[in-house]
Amino acid sequence: MQKILNYINGELVGPASGKFLDNYNPAEGKVYSQVPDSDAADVNSAVDAAQQAFEAWAAMPVEKRSAILQKIADLVDRDLDKLALAESVDQGKPVKLAKAVDIPRASSNMRFFATGAIHFASEAHVTGTEAVNYTLRTPIGVAGCISPWNLPLYLFTWKIAPALAAGCTVVAKPSELTPMTAFLFSQLCMEAGLPKGVLNIVHGLGPRAGQAIIEHPEIPAISFTGGTVTGRKIAATAAPMFKKLSLELGGKNPNIVFADCDFEQAVRTSVQSSFSNQGEICLCGSRIFVERSLYERFVHEFVNMTKQLVVGDPQEEKTRIGALVSEAHMNKVLSYIALAQQEGGKVLTGGKRVILQGRCANGYFVEPTVITGLNATCSTNQEEIFGPVVTIMPFDTEDEVIGYANGTPYGLSATLWTENLKCAHRVAAQLKSGIIWVNCWLFRDLRTPFGGMKQSGVGREGGWEALRFFTEAKNVCVKL
Ligand code: NDP
Repeated sequence: MQKILNYINGELVGPASGKFLDNYNPAEGKVYSQVPDSDAADVNSAVDAAQQAFEAWAAMPVEKRSAILQKIADLVDRDLDKLALAESVDQGKPVKLAKAVDIPRASSNMRFFATGAIHFASEAHVTGTEAVNYTLRTPIGVAGCISPWNLPLYLFTWKIAPALAAGCTVVAKPSELTPMTAFLFSQLCMEAGLPKGVLNIVHGLGPRAGQAIIEHPEIPAISFTGGTVTGRKIAATAAPMFKKLSLELGGKNPNIVFADCDFEQAVRTSVQSSFSNQGEICLCGSRIFVERSLYERFVHEFVNMTKQLVVGDPQEEKTRIGALVSEAHMNKVLSYIALAQQEGGKVLTGGKRVILQGRCANGYFVEPTVITGLNATCSTNQEEIFGPVVTIMPFDTEDEVIGYANGTPYGLSATLWTENLKCAHRVAAQLKSGIIWVNCWLFRDLRTPFGGMKQSGVGREGGWEALRFFTEAKNVCVKL
């Protein structure tokens, strides 16, 4: 059985303890590889290597650093098919999706920050004729990057690319549920000639390997994407150590449909924004609010389209909904569907586990599920389910729907559908979400700051914000 290895000091090595964990293929419900069960000893080795590599990497001319990172992006593009298949086997998502979205976005993360760093500039302020102040930004040191299982390589590169481009060295931990693409990525880094110790990847469990990264005194900055509960734990450890923190956390995103929307577009994209990647995207719209005059028509069409989504083997071309990432996660999603029914919800379609034939007979598949009849404050509409489950509710007024949309502890993203320009601007300004899509979903421009409000996160990633995060700013004031 294939053994995944840590990537420390430029080499692929097993964990110091010699212990490994089982890695499952969720579409088959079977162990297919082993992943290091790393602990503080491995993290310490990784931090030592990163510290030793730091000075030379930070001092390397940015064009040279950029060329190495772009070479890695080229290799990701070259291995698109291999990486997409690996991501699908590890995570359960359709290969087609990994090939169209996850892997291309991973390479564009690398390329964007590699080239961005070349154009990165700091500010200068002339204070009359008396002084000139300028901001000197230097890489902060060894960065700790921790990423989740839902978009494995895409979010892994989203964390490490700006850190490396800014001149930091990195100790990173992917989710132990989906380690394969990060492992393949470490081989690409070796092939691209990334100097040893610049990127170190330590695989293992969050509370063990992850926590050791957070606690390490020589890691001054932590960039984390994952659940809000984990984020709170991380902040509790890192804040008293005065570490710089960027937390990208959970969401319970509203999708608001006004009666004057482009109906076909709104329904089609809402099905996509509800169920892409089995609903396991932090930006999925899991609460749909439809203006009452359109409500019946929207629900009818939405349910029709949902019923057409093929749940199946992730490697088949026609599959739109693959497997959930793990048995535990599938059970969590099913328990939320049961809770929704206890809360008075009506399941219009879906609601059950899907048992497939053949290779995927033991996989963790759940039908895309549409629920109506719930109020905005019930647990189903307040807590992040992170699966193929969506609720639909009618609304009468703009103020009412803004109240529903903002009425959870989360504030990651929102989508709104209207042809009325004034309404779009007015509502967008009042939504407490880090990103608001008008008449589209998941469109991205990497130059924009990205991050959640309220319990969906702290800090902003993307664009210059991400490069700045991994630097330390000093003001130099020169008297004229
Ligand atoms: P988790 O919070 O469970 O895990 C995220 C990462 O943190 C994993 O690598 C995990 O390791 C690790 N981890 C867990 N405990 C600790 C700890 N004590 N110290 C350090 N690291 C730890 O999230 P999931 O992997 O379940 O991902 C799903 C969540 O991520 C959802 O809530 C989703 O909304 C959110 N998310 C947010 C995004 C955003 O941009 N805002 C984007 C994508 C997802 P291990 O897997 O081994 O437990």
